[in-house]
Amino acid sequence: MNLSEELKNIRRTIHQNPELGNEEFKTSALVEKFLKKHKVKTYRLCKTGIVGVLEGTKKSSTKQKTIALRADLDALPICEKNKVPYKSKNNGVMHACGHDGNTAIVLGTAMLLAEQRDQFSGKVQFIFQPNEEASGGARRMIEEGVLAKNKVDTILGVHVNPWIKTGKIGLKYGAMMAGVDKFIVEIEGLTGHGAYPHFSKDAIVCASQFVMSLQTIVSRVISPLEPVVVSVGEISGGERYNIICGKVKLVGTVRTLNNKIRTKIKQEIIKRLDGVSKMYDTKYTLDYKTLGLPLINADSIVDICEKSAIEHYGKNNVCLLKEPSMGGEDFAEYLQKIKGCFIYIGTSSNKQTSYPWHHENFDIDEKSLATGAQYIAYTAKKILNNCKI
Ligand code: MN
Repeated sequence: MNLSEELKNIRRTIHQNPELGNEEFKTSALVEKFLKKHKVKTYRLCKTGIVGVLEGTKKSSTKQKTIALRADLDALPICEKNKVPYKSKNNGVMHACGHDGNTAIVLGTAMLLAEQRDQFSGKVQFIFQPNEEASGGARRMIEEGVLAKNKVDTILGVHVNPWIKTGKIGLKYGAMMAGVDKFIVEIEGLTGHGAYPHFSKDAIVCASQFVMSLQTIVSRVISPLEPVVVSVGEISGGERYNIICGKVKLVGTVRTLNNKIRTKIKQEIIKRLDGVSKMYDTKYTLDYKTLGLPLINADSIVDICEKSAIEHYGKNNVCLLKEPSMGGEDFAEYLQKIKGCFIYIGTSSNKQTSYPWHHENFDIDEKSLATGAQYIAYTAKKILNNCKI
């Protein structure tokens, strides 16, 4: 069976049997079996995480390096609407972000590099990570030693992209994706009769003022040249039209491309909560969580990936993305520790393969899998043999 057929089959098997984050039991067993079949050593982390390790046999006079290649295993709680023979058999769960494709590409890379051991020196570590979607998968893999065990020097992340045509790849210098925070605010006032508002402390008025004051963080505090999102997505409170509401809950998100600005925004949120609480004589609690860090590629590694992509795909097929996205991706966690680059493999060729990520009709052009694997293998060898990191 050729590479293209093999990767199509494995992608379809994973696609038909999607599993949610931290429950990727069948998927990780399949990945483990594939790696073993191709004589790649494996070990497990975080229950459903699989790591493959492959050592090159080429002699080298310079210090040997380790490169990590990362794919993710988890699917989403979405009901697939595609009418394809490989449709999800796990009702209500779907590979709508293409992690089945990411996994197939990195498995293909492992297969190629296992056949080409004599062409590189140093080590390749294949990381198949659980639970990217709910975040936390990458962090746990790092905590359990995925970067320390083989002293990983650099890392490449692989992701299919429905906005880039098959046969093309997308790279981005610097900040590529946003850090994602979530905040939950509870404002406590005093419930009272609608006819006597002066005997109560209205949490709705206070919450309204707070929501409006949040708008000035982006427009008046942060530089207009800095991409930032501050939004309240949920608001709840109140019992009846003629009762002054004593308690309001607000849930929102903050997205930023650098950590200094995220810290500044948190402080600004607290400042506004202190302000409105004083004004309306209310109390508040704030639960502020960082769900994901901004994804910042290392320019030196992007440069190597770009040169390699020009050689492999041709100059016209390398898309250098100008703008970052405000979406999140936990590959950012690895990049806080070591230099690396997140790579988009174009998978769109018609309407069916152009639906956005997380859409119930999401699908990929499987022709992109083999060329993607060949490119990643080529780049990994180039970095191990020639490049200073
Ligand atoms: Mn994804």
